[in-house]
Amino acid sequence: MGSAFNVGKLFGIQFKLHYTWFIIFVLVTVSLSWQYFPFVYHDWSPLLYWVLGIVTSLLFFASVLAHELAHSLVSRINGIPVKSITLFIFGGMAQITREAARPGDELKMAAAGPACSLVIGGLFALLWLFTRGVIEPIAAIAFWLAWINVVLAVFNLIPGFPLDGGRVFRSLLWRFTGNYSRSTRIATRVGQGVGYLFILGGIFIVFWHPLGLSWFNGIWLAFIGWFLENAASSSYRQSKWRDALHGFSASQVMTTDNPVVPSDITVSQLVQDYIFTSGYRFFIIADEGLLEGILTLDNIKSVSQQRWNATLVREIMTPVDQLKVAHPDQDALSILEQMDESDINQLPVVSGGRVIGLIARDNLIRFLRIRSELGL
Ligand SMILES: [Zn+2]
Repeated sequence: MGSAFNVGKLFGIQFKLHYTWFIIFVLVTVSLSWQYFPFVYHDWSPLLYWVLGIVTSLLFFASVLAHELAHSLVSRINGIPVKSITLFIFGGMAQITREAARPGDELKMAAAGPACSLVIGGLFALLWLFTRGVIEPIAAIAFWLAWINVVLAVFNLIPGFPLDGGRVFRSLLWRFTGNYSRSTRIATRVGQGVGYLFILGGIFIVFWHPLGLSWFNGIWLAFIGWFLENAASSSYRQSKWRDALHGFSASQVMTTDNPVVPSDITVSQLVQDYIFTSGYRFFIIADEGLLEGILTLDNIKSVSQQRWNATLVREIMTPVDQLKVAHPDQDALSILEQMDESDINQLPVVSGGRVIGLIARDNLIRFLRIRSELGL
Protein backbone atom coordinates (compact mmCIF):
# COMPACT_ATOMS: atom_id res chain seq x y z
CA MET A 1 0.00 0.00 0.00
CA GLY A 2 1.46 3.36 -1.02
CA SER A 3 1.06 6.78 0.62
CA ALA A 4 1.36 5.69 4.23
CA PHE A 5 3.13 7.68 6.96
CA ASN A 6 5.60 5.97 9.25
CA VAL A 7 4.52 6.70 12.79
CA GLY A 8 7.05 4.67 14.71
CA LYS A 9 7.87 1.19 15.87
CA LEU A 10 5.86 -1.08 18.16
CA PHE A 11 7.64 -4.21 19.40
CA GLY A 12 10.06 -3.72 16.51
CA ILE A 13 7.26 -3.61 13.91
CA GLN A 14 6.86 -0.53 11.75
CA PHE A 15 3.52 1.19 12.41
CA LYS A 16 2.02 3.22 9.56
CA LEU A 17 -1.03 5.37 8.91
CA HIS A 18 -2.37 5.30 5.36
CA TYR A 19 -3.78 8.64 4.19
CA THR A 20 -7.27 7.08 3.91
CA TRP A 21 -7.15 6.42 7.66
CA PHE A 22 -7.59 10.15 8.34
CA ILE A 23 -10.90 10.02 6.43
CA ILE A 24 -12.27 7.19 8.55
CA PHE A 25 -10.94 8.78 11.74
CA VAL A 26 -12.86 11.99 10.99
CA LEU A 27 -16.01 10.03 10.00
CA VAL A 28 -16.00 7.94 13.17
CA THR A 29 -15.25 10.94 15.40
CA VAL A 30 -17.94 13.12 13.82
CA SER A 31 -20.62 10.44 13.86
CA LEU A 32 -19.88 9.71 17.54
CA SER A 33 -19.84 13.39 18.59
CA TRP A 34 -22.76 14.56 16.45
CA GLN A 35 -25.04 11.56 16.36
CA TYR A 36 -24.36 8.68 18.71
CA PHE A 37 -23.50 10.41 22.02
CA PRO A 38 -26.13 13.21 21.76
CA PHE A 39 -28.74 10.62 20.72
CA VAL A 40 -28.06 8.24 23.62
CA TYR A 41 -27.04 10.68 26.35
CA HIS A 42 -29.17 13.84 26.47
CA ASP A 43 -28.33 17.28 27.81
CA TRP A 44 -24.57 17.02 28.00
CA SER A 45 -22.52 19.99 26.75
CA PRO A 46 -21.40 20.05 23.06
CA LEU A 47 -17.81 20.26 24.25
CA LEU A 48 -18.23 17.05 26.23
CA TYR A 49 -19.72 15.28 23.19
CA TRP A 50 -16.67 16.26 21.14
CA VAL A 51 -14.17 15.24 23.81
CA LEU A 52 -15.95 11.89 24.17
CA GLY A 53 -16.08 11.47 20.38
CA ILE A 54 -12.36 12.09 19.92
CA VAL A 55 -11.26 9.94 22.89
CA THR A 56 -13.57 7.08 21.86
CA SER A 57 -12.44 7.23 18.25
CA LEU A 58 -8.75 7.16 19.28
CA LEU A 59 -9.37 4.23 21.63
CA PHE A 60 -11.27 2.43 18.86
CA PHE A 61 -8.32 2.65 16.47
CA ALA A 62 -5.99 1.66 19.30
CA SER A 63 -8.18 -1.45 19.64
CA VAL A 64 -7.84 -2.16 15.90
CA LEU A 65 -4.09 -1.73 16.26
CA ALA A 66 -4.05 -4.15 19.20
CA HIS A 67 -5.96 -6.68 17.05
CA GLU A 68 -3.28 -6.45 14.32
CA LEU A 69 -0.49 -6.58 16.91
CA ALA A 70 -1.98 -9.82 18.23
CA HIS A 71 -1.77 -11.37 14.74
CA SER A 72 1.75 -10.03 14.33
CA LEU A 73 3.17 -11.16 17.65
CA VAL A 74 1.77 -14.69 17.26
CA SER A 75 3.17 -14.96 13.75
CA ARG A 76 6.56 -13.78 15.01
CA ILE A 77 6.46 -16.45 17.73
CA ASN A 78 5.92 -18.94 14.88
CA GLY A 79 9.06 -17.69 13.15
CA ILE A 80 7.35 -15.54 10.53
CA PRO A 81 8.61 -11.94 10.50
CA VAL A 82 6.15 -9.04 10.21
CA LYS A 83 7.18 -5.99 8.22
CA SER A 84 4.57 -3.44 9.21
CA ILE A 85 1.09 -2.73 10.49
CA THR A 86 -0.96 -0.16 8.60
CA LEU A 87 -4.23 1.43 9.62
CA PHE A 88 -6.32 2.39 6.58
CA ILE A 89 -9.93 3.17 5.67
CA PHE A 90 -11.23 -0.39 6.13
CA GLY A 91 -9.37 -1.08 9.37
CA GLY A 92 -5.93 -2.50 9.96
CA MET A 93 -3.57 -4.73 8.04
CA ALA A 94 -0.45 -6.52 9.20
CA GLN A 95 2.07 -7.17 6.46
CA ILE A 96 3.12 -10.69 7.34
CA THR A 97 5.97 -11.76 5.08
CA ARG A 98 4.90 -15.30 4.31
CA GLU A 99 2.23 -17.87 4.93
CA ALA A 100 2.40 -20.29 7.84
CA ALA A 101 4.05 -23.63 7.15
CA ARG A 102 1.62 -25.68 9.27
CA PRO A 103 -2.18 -25.47 9.62
CA GLY A 104 -1.90 -25.25 13.42
CA ASP A 105 0.32 -22.15 13.14
CA GLU A 106 -2.08 -20.48 10.74
CA LEU A 107 -5.00 -21.23 13.04
CA LYS A 108 -3.24 -19.57 15.98
CA MET A 109 -2.12 -16.56 13.92
CA ALA A 110 -5.61 -15.99 12.49
CA ALA A 111 -7.50 -16.53 15.74
CA ALA A 112 -5.22 -14.22 17.75
CA GLY A 113 -6.80 -11.04 16.33
CA PRO A 114 -10.47 -11.77 17.09
CA ALA A 115 -9.45 -13.27 20.46
CA CYS A 116 -7.67 -10.01 21.32
CA SER A 117 -10.72 -7.96 20.26
CA LEU A 118 -12.96 -10.12 22.47
CA VAL A 119 -10.65 -9.63 25.46
CA ILE A 120 -10.57 -5.86 24.91
CA GLY A 121 -14.37 -5.87 24.53
CA GLY A 122 -14.66 -7.77 27.82
CA LEU A 123 -12.37 -5.31 29.61
CA PHE A 124 -14.43 -2.35 28.42
CA ALA A 125 -17.61 -4.16 29.48
CA LEU A 126 -16.13 -4.50 32.98
CA LEU A 127 -15.19 -0.82 32.99
CA TRP A 128 -18.77 0.00 31.96
CA LEU A 129 -20.16 -2.13 34.83
CA PHE A 130 -18.01 -0.32 37.39
CA THR A 131 -18.57 3.22 36.11
CA ARG A 132 -22.23 3.30 35.06
CA GLY A 133 -24.31 5.53 37.30
CA VAL A 134 -21.04 6.79 38.87
CA ILE A 135 -18.99 8.45 36.13
CA GLU A 136 -21.47 8.46 33.29
CA PRO A 137 -19.19 9.88 30.50
CA ILE A 138 -16.61 7.12 31.09
CA ALA A 139 -19.36 4.51 31.16
CA ALA A 140 -20.58 5.92 27.82
CA ILE A 141 -17.14 5.47 26.22
CA ALA A 142 -16.71 2.00 27.74
CA PHE A 143 -20.13 0.82 26.54
CA TRP A 144 -19.52 1.78 22.90
CA LEU A 145 -15.99 0.34 22.88
CA ALA A 146 -17.15 -2.93 24.46
CA TRP A 147 -19.82 -3.29 21.81
CA ILE A 148 -17.62 -2.28 18.84
CA ASN A 149 -14.80 -4.67 19.82
CA VAL A 150 -17.23 -7.58 19.93
CA VAL A 151 -18.58 -6.49 16.52
CA LEU A 152 -14.99 -6.36 15.25
CA ALA A 153 -14.29 -9.90 16.48
CA VAL A 154 -17.53 -11.33 15.06
CA PHE A 155 -17.16 -9.55 11.72
CA ASN A 156 -13.60 -10.81 11.33
CA LEU A 157 -14.73 -14.37 12.06
CA ILE A 158 -16.90 -14.51 8.91
CA PRO A 159 -15.36 -17.52 7.14
CA GLY A 160 -14.37 -15.84 3.85
CA PHE A 161 -10.69 -15.39 3.02
CA PRO A 162 -8.92 -12.91 3.57
CA LEU A 163 -10.92 -12.24 6.75
CA ASP A 164 -9.53 -13.94 9.87
CA GLY A 165 -12.44 -16.38 9.82
CA GLY A 166 -11.49 -17.31 6.25
CA ARG A 167 -7.97 -18.07 7.42
CA VAL A 168 -9.29 -20.15 10.31
CA PHE A 169 -11.53 -21.97 7.81
CA ARG A 170 -8.57 -22.58 5.47
CA SER A 171 -6.39 -23.88 8.28
CA LEU A 172 -9.10 -26.38 9.25
CA LEU A 173 -9.62 -27.52 5.65
CA TRP A 174 -5.85 -27.77 5.30
CA ARG A 175 -5.57 -29.86 8.46
CA PHE A 176 -8.29 -32.30 7.37
CA THR A 177 -7.47 -32.55 3.65
CA GLY A 178 -3.69 -32.05 3.89
CA ASN A 179 -3.99 -30.02 0.68
CA TYR A 180 -2.91 -26.42 1.13
CA SER A 181 -3.74 -25.14 -2.36
CA ARG A 182 -7.16 -26.72 -2.53
CA SER A 183 -8.00 -25.33 0.90
CA THR A 184 -6.87 -21.87 -0.23
CA ARG A 185 -9.01 -22.09 -3.37
CA ILE A 186 -12.10 -23.05 -1.39
CA ALA A 187 -11.57 -20.38 1.30
CA THR A 188 -10.90 -17.65 -1.30
CA ARG A 189 -14.00 -18.68 -3.31
CA VAL A 190 -16.09 -18.38 -0.14
CA GLY A 191 -14.39 -15.00 0.44
CA GLN A 192 -15.49 -13.83 -3.02
CA GLY A 193 -19.03 -14.99 -2.21
CA VAL A 194 -18.98 -13.03 1.07
CA GLY A 195 -17.77 -9.97 -0.87
CA TYR A 196 -20.64 -10.24 -3.37
CA LEU A 197 -23.18 -10.74 -0.55
CA PHE A 198 -21.92 -7.55 1.13
CA ILE A 199 -22.26 -5.64 -2.13
CA LEU A 200 -25.83 -6.91 -2.62
CA GLY A 201 -26.65 -6.24 1.05
CA GLY A 202 -25.25 -2.72 0.65
CA ILE A 203 -27.42 -2.03 -2.40
CA PHE A 204 -30.45 -3.39 -0.53
CA ILE A 205 -29.76 -1.03 2.39
CA VAL A 206 -29.34 1.97 0.08
CA PHE A 207 -32.80 1.45 -1.44
CA TRP A 208 -34.87 -0.09 1.36
CA HIS A 209 -33.25 1.14 4.65
CA PRO A 210 -33.95 -1.98 6.77
CA LEU A 211 -33.50 -1.59 10.59
CA GLY A 212 -33.27 2.15 10.19
CA LEU A 213 -29.92 1.89 8.39
CA SER A 214 -29.03 4.86 6.19
CA TRP A 215 -27.92 4.96 2.54
CA PHE A 216 -24.45 5.74 3.88
CA ASN A 217 -24.31 2.42 5.80
CA GLY A 218 -25.30 0.68 2.56
CA ILE A 219 -22.58 2.31 0.49
CA TRP A 220 -20.07 1.54 3.21
CA LEU A 221 -21.02 -2.14 3.31
CA ALA A 222 -20.87 -2.35 -0.48
CA PHE A 223 -17.37 -0.82 -0.46
CA ILE A 224 -16.16 -3.30 2.15
CA GLY A 225 -17.64 -6.07 -0.01
CA TRP A 226 -15.85 -4.77 -3.06
CA PHE A 227 -12.56 -4.61 -1.14
CA LEU A 228 -12.98 -8.16 0.20
CA GLU A 229 -13.91 -9.56 -3.21
CA ASN A 230 -10.79 -8.00 -4.72
CA ALA A 231 -8.52 -9.34 -2.01
CA ALA A 232 -10.08 -12.81 -2.22
CA SER A 233 -9.78 -13.07 -5.99
CA SER A 234 -6.17 -11.89 -5.99
CA SER A 235 -5.34 -14.53 -3.35
CA TYR A 236 -7.12 -17.07 -5.54
CA ARG A 237 -4.98 -16.12 -8.56
CA GLN A 238 -1.82 -16.20 -6.47
CA SER A 239 -2.66 -19.65 -5.27
CA LYS A 240 -3.11 -20.84 -8.85
CA TRP A 241 0.29 -19.40 -9.79
CA ARG A 242 1.96 -21.01 -6.84
CA ASP A 243 0.49 -24.33 -7.85
CA ALA A 244 1.59 -23.90 -11.43
CA LEU A 245 5.15 -23.07 -10.36
CA HIS A 246 5.38 -26.11 -8.17
CA GLY A 247 8.10 -28.52 -9.25
CA PHE A 248 10.01 -26.11 -11.49
CA SER A 249 13.58 -25.10 -10.82
CA ALA A 250 15.18 -21.70 -11.35
CA SER A 251 17.04 -22.88 -14.44
CA GLN A 252 13.75 -23.90 -16.06
CA VAL A 253 12.04 -20.56 -15.57
CA MET A 254 14.94 -18.11 -15.97
CA THR A 255 15.59 -16.05 -19.08
CA THR A 256 19.07 -16.07 -20.59
CA ASP A 257 18.83 -13.24 -23.11
CA ASN A 258 19.20 -10.35 -20.64
CA PRO A 259 21.95 -7.89 -21.54
CA VAL A 260 25.17 -8.33 -19.58
CA VAL A 261 27.17 -5.14 -19.24
CA PRO A 262 30.81 -4.69 -18.15
CA SER A 263 31.31 -2.62 -15.00
CA ASP A 264 33.78 -0.13 -16.46
CA ILE A 265 31.63 1.61 -19.08
CA THR A 266 30.12 5.02 -18.36
CA VAL A 267 26.48 5.68 -17.73
CA SER A 268 26.15 7.57 -21.06
CA GLN A 269 27.60 4.56 -22.92
CA LEU A 270 25.12 2.30 -21.16
CA VAL A 271 22.20 4.56 -22.09
CA GLN A 272 23.35 4.92 -25.73
CA ASP A 273 24.51 1.39 -26.44
CA TYR A 274 22.20 -0.73 -24.34
CA ILE A 275 19.08 1.03 -23.10
CA PHE A 276 18.07 2.83 -26.31
CA THR A 277 18.81 -0.17 -28.52
CA SER A 278 17.38 -2.94 -26.37
CA GLY A 279 14.63 -1.25 -24.36
CA TYR A 280 15.65 -3.24 -21.27
CA ARG A 281 15.25 -1.61 -17.88
CA PHE A 282 17.39 -4.02 -15.92
CA PHE A 283 21.03 -4.96 -16.48
CA ILE A 284 23.36 -7.58 -15.14
CA ILE A 285 26.80 -6.13 -14.52
CA ALA A 286 29.48 -8.77 -14.95
CA ASP A 287 33.13 -8.79 -15.86
CA GLU A 288 34.20 -11.88 -17.80
CA GLY A 289 31.06 -13.71 -16.68
CA LEU A 290 31.56 -13.01 -12.97
CA LEU A 291 28.62 -11.18 -11.38
CA GLU A 292 29.56 -7.71 -10.09
CA GLY A 293 26.11 -6.26 -9.49
CA ILE A 294 22.84 -5.25 -11.06
CA LEU A 295 21.59 -1.94 -12.36
CA THR A 296 18.08 -0.62 -12.97
CA LEU A 297 16.72 2.61 -14.45
CA ASP A 298 16.26 3.85 -10.89
CA ASN A 299 20.01 3.64 -10.28
CA ILE A 300 20.58 5.72 -13.41
CA LYS A 301 17.99 8.31 -12.41
CA SER A 302 19.91 8.85 -9.15
CA VAL A 303 22.71 10.55 -11.14
CA SER A 304 22.18 13.92 -12.83
CA GLN A 305 22.52 13.85 -16.62
CA GLN A 306 25.55 16.17 -16.65
CA ARG A 307 27.50 13.53 -14.74
CA TRP A 308 26.61 10.56 -16.99
CA ASN A 309 29.86 10.98 -18.97
CA ALA A 310 32.02 10.91 -15.85
CA THR A 311 30.24 8.16 -13.93
CA LEU A 312 30.97 4.46 -14.33
CA VAL A 313 28.17 1.93 -13.97
CA ARG A 314 30.26 0.26 -11.22
CA GLU A 315 29.78 3.39 -9.06
CA ILE A 316 25.98 3.35 -9.17
CA MET A 317 25.11 -0.35 -9.48
CA THR A 318 23.82 -2.42 -6.56
CA PRO A 319 26.97 -4.43 -5.81
CA VAL A 320 26.94 -8.21 -5.58
CA ASP A 321 27.43 -8.32 -1.80
CA GLN A 322 24.11 -6.49 -1.33
CA LEU A 323 22.27 -8.71 -3.79
CA LYS A 324 19.97 -11.62 -3.35
CA VAL A 325 20.68 -14.31 -5.92
CA ALA A 326 19.08 -17.60 -6.90
CA HIS A 327 20.75 -20.96 -7.54
CA PRO A 328 19.96 -22.88 -10.74
CA ASP A 329 18.37 -25.83 -8.96
CA GLN A 330 16.44 -23.72 -6.45
CA ASP A 331 12.69 -24.28 -6.41
CA ALA A 332 10.85 -21.61 -8.47
CA LEU A 333 8.17 -21.19 -5.82
CA SER A 334 10.74 -20.38 -3.14
CA ILE A 335 12.19 -17.75 -5.48
CA LEU A 336 8.80 -16.09 -5.81
CA GLU A 337 8.53 -16.07 -2.01
CA GLN A 338 12.04 -14.63 -1.71
CA MET A 339 11.02 -11.81 -4.08
CA ASP A 340 7.85 -11.14 -2.09
CA GLU A 341 9.72 -11.13 1.19
CA SER A 342 12.33 -8.60 0.11
CA ASP A 343 10.14 -6.56 -2.29
CA ILE A 344 12.25 -7.15 -5.38
CA ASN A 345 11.25 -7.93 -8.93
CA GLN A 346 14.39 -9.57 -10.34
CA LEU A 347 16.87 -12.16 -9.17
CA PRO A 348 20.03 -13.10 -11.06
CA VAL A 349 20.65 -16.84 -11.21
CA VAL A 350 24.23 -17.56 -10.25
CA SER A 351 26.26 -20.72 -10.44
CA GLY A 352 29.82 -20.69 -9.10
CA GLY A 353 29.91 -16.87 -9.13
CA ARG A 354 28.90 -16.73 -12.80
CA VAL A 355 25.58 -15.29 -13.94
CA ILE A 356 23.73 -17.81 -16.04
CA GLY A 357 20.32 -16.13 -16.24
CA LEU A 358 17.75 -13.90 -14.71
CA ILE A 359 14.37 -14.44 -13.10
CA ALA A 360 11.99 -11.51 -13.27
CA ARG A 361 8.54 -11.48 -11.75
CA ASP A 362 6.83 -10.62 -15.04
CA ASN A 363 8.75 -13.42 -16.79
CA LEU A 364 7.44 -15.90 -14.25
CA ILE A 365 3.92 -14.75 -14.99
CA ARG A 366 4.52 -14.93 -18.76
CA PHE A 367 5.98 -18.41 -18.38
CA LEU A 368 2.88 -19.57 -16.53
CA ARG A 369 0.51 -17.93 -18.98
CA ILE A 370 2.18 -19.56 -21.99
CA ARG A 371 2.08 -22.95 -20.31
CA SER A 372 -1.59 -22.61 -19.53
CA GLU A 373 -2.33 -21.44 -23.08
CA LEU A 374 -0.61 -24.53 -24.44
CA GLY A 375 -2.62 -26.59 -21.99
CA LEU A 376 0.50 -27.86 -20.18
ZN1 LIG B 1 -7.64 -9.78 12.03
